[in-house]
Amino acid sequence: MHTNPAHVAARLERVVRERLQPRLHEPVGDVEVAAWRVGGDGEPVPPAQALGATYEPLAVGATWGPRWGTTWLRVEGQAPASERPVELVLDPGWSGRFVGGQGEALVYRADGVPLKALHPRNGWFRLTGPGAAEGVVAADGRFTVYVEAAANPLVLDFPPFGETTYGEKPGPDEPEPYRLISAKLCAFDAEVFELLRDLEATGDLMPQLSPDEPRYWKILRAVEAALDAGSDAEAREALAEALSQPANASAHRMTAVGHAHIDSAWLWPLRETRRKVARTLANVLTLMETEPGLVYAMSSAQQYAWVQEDHPELFERVRQRVAEGRIVPVGGMWVESDAVMPGGESLVRQISFGKRYFAETFGHESEVVWLPDSFGYSGAWPQIARRAGYRWFLTQKLSWNDTTVFPHHTFAWEGIDGSRILTHFPPADTYSAEVTAGELRHAVSNFRDKVVSDHSLLLFGYGDGGGGPTREMVARAHRFRDLEGAARVELGAPERFFATAEAELGDNAPVWAGELYLELHRGTLTSQIAMKQGNRRAEALLRTVEYLRAVSAVRDDVPYPHAELDEAWRTVLLHQFHDILPGSSISWVHREARDTYARLEKQLRALVEGPGDPGRIVGWQVVRDANRVAPTKAVAMSEADRFVSDRDGTELSVDVALDNGILRASLDANGNVQSLVDLRDGREIAAGPLGGLRLFRDEPVQWDAWDVDRHVLRRPVPLDLAGVEVTGDAIVVTHRRGASTFVTTYAMEVGRPRLEITVDVDWQEREHLLKLSLPVAVHSLRARYETQYGSIERPTHENTLADEAQYEVCSHRWVHVAEPGLGVGVINDSTYGCDVRRIPGGTDIRPTLLRAPRYPDPHTDRGRHTLRFAVVAGDETQTRKEADDLNAPRLDALAGIEPLVTLDVASGAAVIDWVKLADDRSGDVIVRLYETRGGRAVARLKPSFPATVAETDLLERDPVPVDRLVLGPFQITTLRLVRES
Ligand SMILES: [Zn+2]
Repeated sequence: MHTNPAHVAARLERVVRERLQPRLHEPVGDVEVAAWRVGGDGEPVPPAQALGATYEPLAVGATWGPRWGTTWLRVEGQAPASERPVELVLDPGWSGRFVGGQGEALVYRADGVPLKALHPRNGWFRLTGPGAAEGVVAADGRFTVYVEAAANPLVLDFPPFGETTYGEKPGPDEPEPYRLISAKLCAFDAEVFELLRDLEATGDLMPQLSPDEPRYWKILRAVEAALDAGSDAEAREALAEALSQPANASAHRMTAVGHAHIDSAWLWPLRETRRKVARTLANVLTLMETEPGLVYAMSSAQQYAWVQEDHPELFERVRQRVAEGRIVPVGGMWVESDAVMPGGESLVRQISFGKRYFAETFGHESEVVWLPDSFGYSGAWPQIARRAGYRWFLTQKLSWNDTTVFPHHTFAWEGIDGSRILTHFPPADTYSAEVTAGELRHAVSNFRDKVVSDHSLLLFGYGDGGGGPTREMVARAHRFRDLEGAARVELGAPERFFATAEAELGDNAPVWAGELYLELHRGTLTSQIAMKQGNRRAEALLRTVEYLRAVSAVRDDVPYPHAELDEAWRTVLLHQFHDILPGSSISWVHREARDTYARLEKQLRALVEGPGDPGRIVGWQVVRDANRVAPTKAVAMSEADRFVSDRDGTELSVDVALDNGILRASLDANGNVQSLVDLRDGREIAAGPLGGLRLFRDEPVQWDAWDVDRHVLRRPVPLDLAGVEVTGDAIVVTHRRGASTFVTTYAMEVGRPRLEITVDVDWQEREHLLKLSLPVAVHSLRARYETQYGSIERPTHENTLADEAQYEVCSHRWVHVAEPGLGVGVINDSTYGCDVRRIPGGTDIRPTLLRAPRYPDPHTDRGRHTLRFAVVAGDETQTRKEADDLNAPRLDALAGIEPLVTLDVASGAAVIDWVKLADDRSGDVIVRLYETRGGRAVARLKPSFPATVAETDLLERDPVPVDRLVLGPFQITTLRLVRES
């Protein structure tokens, strides 16, 4: 007998598609569909309102919409008596190209209780038979259900990343985007369903095996016999033996966890996420009725809170499944936030708000940080996670690296302070698996820690509105439970995997030290600058407001505004979601977010401001604005000098200078800072013109809002000099290009070792990127960047592929380079993207100011922006102090106050980062501080009021009395000050 495996595979594929799949649902009756389009602004309405609306018949073939609108369908019919389960099968016009990110619907019982959602690969609703919802079908078979259909557009179409207007609602004349393709009653053929899964398990497994092995041929023969069979039962019989062979003794083990990665906003607005979560949970709860082994992991307290608010009855079913351990709240964070840009306190609050919600709502605390999709992970995470009670960390995003391959899947991740946390990257390289033999095979061969472990995690289920795990996925998982040639797949909770892996690894876990840098999506540090500014300013305001209100509470018994601050924090935390703060969402999301940040700032200021002198809180003291120095040594500039159009051939000639007795900056007639001298020792700091703007053409190969490709930074586009002016206390240099204007203002304050550079841009660019070039005469192989609770060193060279791949990195408020005897820092008030590279004679420090990607928001960052920077002559400590100052919000009505607490540092370097009242509303004062230099520090906290001092974890728990503080490198310490009356 001769057999051609390719021919068998092709035959199988066609039989499944054309002969088996269509038989899964046999039409047995029609339904009547009527529709009500939500009018007004088209925003979603509560079910009670929709149920009372007036419906008009909707024929098959008719359109519905508009884009982003909601259409409620009333579906009526009579389920015929049938031995087989009867299902309503609906196709409202889905695109076949994507599972999530398009039209979706939720089926409600006639009394408004949500039951199950409809999605492109999950378009059925069971009316009779096992797993059918109660109270839907009357004794005579009659039923009425309502379907809330969302006309969400496919924003990520094919080819991807094309410019689109779909990120906002349509104009009045645009046609309705969806067409009702079919709505019918069908008998579900369970035998066909099982046969399809048998054929998938075997047919997909075969190409994963080697033709050198007998198993390959046995499966091939079984598949052929099944295709030759005369009935479905006979076909299944033909496959039975192949499907009953047990897995190899050494087979890799996978814990399969149902999951749906639902972005809290992305290619849809926040309000749509509320509905996506409800739909997905309705599906999961339905599937659990017939699949007792299914465990579903869901992160993000915010997403649970939405369902709790919108669908109390659905939420009660969720609560029940959580109690049973079948829905597992994971992550313990408010949202799956960006994991590099939020400040330290923000990450702590992501956790404290999340864990508090899970404890109060479910009596549950998660032990695993769950961030599968964030764009890199700062080296502060291991310490923050451990000090917040976590044991494990999950992501897989580094499988997206564009340059190097991360060497581990299960490892101990060591943070900047030396803390370690067991970390796992699911080796299937996805968080939305479909449980196919191909995925299992990829996971097994890809898993890079086989020498110490044979166990990994598989997260399966369609995310982002695809509807989560399906019955097909679970049926396949059952077949891979113990099957020769495949990994052993067991349905279970992620904790079970982590506990087993932890025991298996013992002390043998490989160690990765430092940040988990994602070699991709480097543009998310810059895109949508208003998100970055909104976040940074909100963090800075919250820091000041919580401190001032703690002072008032302790000194004057003024009630601390817990509720208002909690609300403000929840807003900040939500907007740190990994597609909002990174700027990778549609226009709608960012437009709303800009308004939200503006409103938040007003609300926070209202908590502390009043009539009086303006000032700032820096180092926990009130500081008034220092005076700026007037430009000195100014050679009187003629009108001709102010407008220099041709820069070529202009000789270096010092025209004007700023001098505050510490630094002297000298500018030439072109507005270039040709020299920056530290007058204290006469050193020249500039290694080239400081403060030049560099514009680059920024046309990414893919992932426009996300990516800055390396080719972008090769060749700047020239700007036209439009003027150099000396104002009262500053030097103002103006450039233009097309419709864009760039105004750079140089200034110095009395007594500060810094040159301030403020850039006001009227940004009218498309697909360009703007950097500020600050070449300094410092010879160093490394630069140090501020991160949460400390700093991280990165190379300034490109020796290895991994070094080069970090050509755009995250800097919090400062970056610092040093050689013996000289340190220079660059501080910013609202940017995160940065590169620092070696140049002849020194190091060029280049913060990234703006981008203008066209997808998914075609008008990204168009408009006016102000960004502030300064070059600081001094060490890291000086740089950090100046960054504190630059980022401190200016507030009205700041009377001079004695600090509430002071930190006496006996040796080393440590600072107080945050002061607030305790979350438990006991009135205790919480002080968070950390060691800043990566060394050791000894300090003592001195409250200005009678109190006992205890050390707690990051969540203010488990107080242990403490007197002298001994801090390790970058150690965070949380202190609870119990007031003595
Ligand atoms: Zn995501």
